[in-house]
Amino acid sequence: MILHIDMDAFFASIEQAINPKLKGRPLIVGSRANKLYTVVCTASYEAKAYGIDSGMPSKEAFKICPDLCFVPAQQSCYIWTSEQIFQLLKGFGYEVAYASIDEFQLDILDNPEPRNLAQSIQKMIQENFKITASIGIAKNYLLAKLASRINKPKGIAIITEENLEFILAQIPVNKLCGIGPKTAPFFENLGIETCLDLYRKEAWFLEQILGKNGLNLYLSLHSNERLAPQETEEKPKSLGHSYTFSRASQNTGFIQGWIRLLSEMVGRRLREQNLAARTIHLWLNGPEIGNFGQQKTYKEPTSDGYEIYQKTCQIWAKNSKKWPKVRAMGVSCSNLSRQNNLSLLKEVKRREDLVKAVDRINSRLGDWTIYPAAATMAKNQP
Ligand SMILES: [Mg+2]
Repeated sequence: MILHIDMDAFFASIEQAINPKLKGRPLIVGSRANKLYTVVCTASYEAKAYGIDSGMPSKEAFKICPDLCFVPAQQSCYIWTSEQIFQLLKGFGYEVAYASIDEFQLDILDNPEPRNLAQSIQKMIQENFKITASIGIAKNYLLAKLASRINKPKGIAIITEENLEFILAQIPVNKLCGIGPKTAPFFENLGIETCLDLYRKEAWFLEQILGKNGLNLYLSLHSNERLAPQETEEKPKSLGHSYTFSRASQNTGFIQGWIRLLSEMVGRRLREQNLAARTIHLWLNGPEIGNFGQQKTYKEPTSDGYEIYQKTCQIWAKNSKKWPKVRAMGVSCSNLSRQNNLSLLKEVKRREDLVKAVDRINSRLGDWTIYPAAATMAKNQP
């Protein structure tokens, strides 16, 4: 069984935990310091009550609620918290994986008391960080993620074989992760309105209407998944990070800033395991492009976040000059090999020394003490 943890209004909750004055108040975390010219990264639940949510221009948010509190994003702090949560989750003795910066998954095997476990995890997060999480448990990732959203915030929902039909019948199909605004009306035309309607469709039917994606969707809905072991002596096959905005954004600086940050995170994980990658994969999801995924294999392996970022940009540039409207994105690397530290070119050597120095500073003074300015997402105005 898979247990999916989704932090509640993650960035805003951290800010409220750090600064008690912000507790209980409508708050937005902005991607840049100028509060009238930024995009909402996260809205606190008090702000969500006004209909304010991520991806909204801050100007619009202030119009709706002039008393709104504002804090510019402190990404290093959020990433640090995320990594701490990840480390503590390992203490529960199950395989743990990142689903995104604020989402984690545990393979809880056939734990007979999943609700108790979920409550212990919520308590651990609350006690250590003064923030809350919602948890969903089901036989696979897709259903566990869906379950985590049912009783948000601070919710726990368990989808079992017994209640599966009852629960899925109440959830519109567009709430399922991966079903975009393009696919949802398409489904509705076929009479698929709820998640249960979709769940009841046979594999051949979904394959007929959606091709390979349909078959994958069927498998994601029905399979009993196991989390692949993360930390074995053997090297992993691929490494990646992804992030989902709660609303699509067309702000190029915002999108590129996030891709840069994800690339840096991937690069850092590669270096931690003394690995380098030859294949770089970019995944984007948005209302106009649906699911876009493309990869490219290069001759020289890399573990440098900036190089990974540049390569992801090249992958997109081959498709279009302009960045599309983006709802979610992911950067991953495969074709991994052990890093060889002998660079003959002077420039390459200098760059490697720089990256190593950054890693040394971060490991001594705390994670994400320094990181590229571009990753602050503060470059462009919306
Ligand atoms: Mg969340």
